[in-house]
Amino acid sequence: MRVLVLNTGSSSVKYEVFTRSDAAGDLSSVVSGLVEGVGETSGAVHVTPAGGATETEERPVADHDAALGLVVDALARTGADEDLVAVGHRVVHGGEDFTAPTLLTDEVVARIDELAPLAPLHNPPAVAGIRVARRRWGDLPHVAVFDTAFHTTMPPAVYRYAVPEDWYREHGVRRFGFHGTSHRYVAGAAARFLDQPLEDLRLVTLHLGNGASACAIAGGRSVDTSMGLSPLAGLVMGTRSGDLDPGVVFHLVRGGTDLAEVERVLNRASGLVGLGGANDVRVLRSAAADGDGDARLALDVMTRRIRQYVGAYLAELGGLDALVFTAGIGEHDAATRAEVVEPLGHLGLRLDPEANGHADAGDGPVRISPPGVTPAVLVVATAEEATIAADTLAIVET
Ligand code: ADP
Repeated sequence: MRVLVLNTGSSSVKYEVFTRSDAAGDLSSVVSGLVEGVGETSGAVHVTPAGGATETEERPVADHDAALGLVVDALARTGADEDLVAVGHRVVHGGEDFTAPTLLTDEVVARIDELAPLAPLHNPPAVAGIRVARRRWGDLPHVAVFDTAFHTTMPPAVYRYAVPEDWYREHGVRRFGFHGTSHRYVAGAAARFLDQPLEDLRLVTLHLGNGASACAIAGGRSVDTSMGLSPLAGLVMGTRSGDLDPGVVFHLVRGGTDLAEVERVLNRASGLVGLGGANDVRVLRSAAADGDGDARLALDVMTRRIRQYVGAYLAELGGLDALVFTAGIGEHDAATRAEVVEPLGHLGLRLDPEANGHADAGDGPVRISPPGVTPAVLVVATAEEATIAADTLAIVET
């Protein structure tokens, strides 16, 4: 049986089909791809059969309806649509209502739509994708898997901000956290690798991609995370500022900058791009090696912030069994891992430079701390889409 996973953003639709041959079997990818430039002047469809080369067709993509039509075509062309039993959708914000993957009904879709004010950049396109997909595959069950759900175990002392209670009650102002599917997956994978029950472990997981967040996990439950009401908080990201004095916003608006422009800059022109002129760590590392001070500063601000969160979470957890790096930067940039771990030797963290330099988590988790040292430092490849597929099958089969 096969499951289609859709991740619909404002200008793109990512898709991947997974297959499972028997009830106990693992999921494996059949085809993956991306439709980009949705609603823009130029667009493209990419199709990558598992183990094969990517085919790209440049073409305009008018809207999400057209994008889903192109996904349907790509699946039909590769034969990946045979035996589809369900569709899983990534939804960024589930608010306080959605604490687990949920079967989509008209009522559930309407409720996700109502959460749009909490995630104006993320939930509306996801709802558009869900609506179109439910029309296209009307006879299949559709399941929403929420980035926020894993963090609904955080206690009030963690998720409440020190603001008046009516801001929380009336406006939903609280910390939610995101990337939950990734933090949950890598925590489970780390426990299996360490051959210890997840229930016994204190972990800090670092999801360092274009978006980035840290998570403190005790006994398999999220107890704190660096993103907040929105995915703008916490670590320095590709284009997002992360933590910032809210006074900066008032200062700029009072000085004449439009509020919408402040929001745009904090989301799309800050972080690594704002400081160093590029959001790709590879570009920044090579510029820094050539003496570019701005690129060096961007990397230093990023890694300092990560170290601060590791220290804070170690204090919060009362100790640490493993620190886990994942996502694009976490999985591939040995220098970032070294700049995070090496200055934290006084907290007991140690790096095996040889293992760190060669870590490739493609075939499974890799230990980059010396053998026998606790906390272990691990590199684990995240698997958000496969986790969404597994969650979707679990709902459909109950
Ligand atoms: P997204 O959040 O878009 O899914 P990814 O998890 O794919 O992002 O991470 C993307 C980022 O990972 C890139 O912007 C780049 O900074 C970093 N990255 C990817 N590959 C490498 C690499 N080989 N070396 C260093 N950094 C890398």
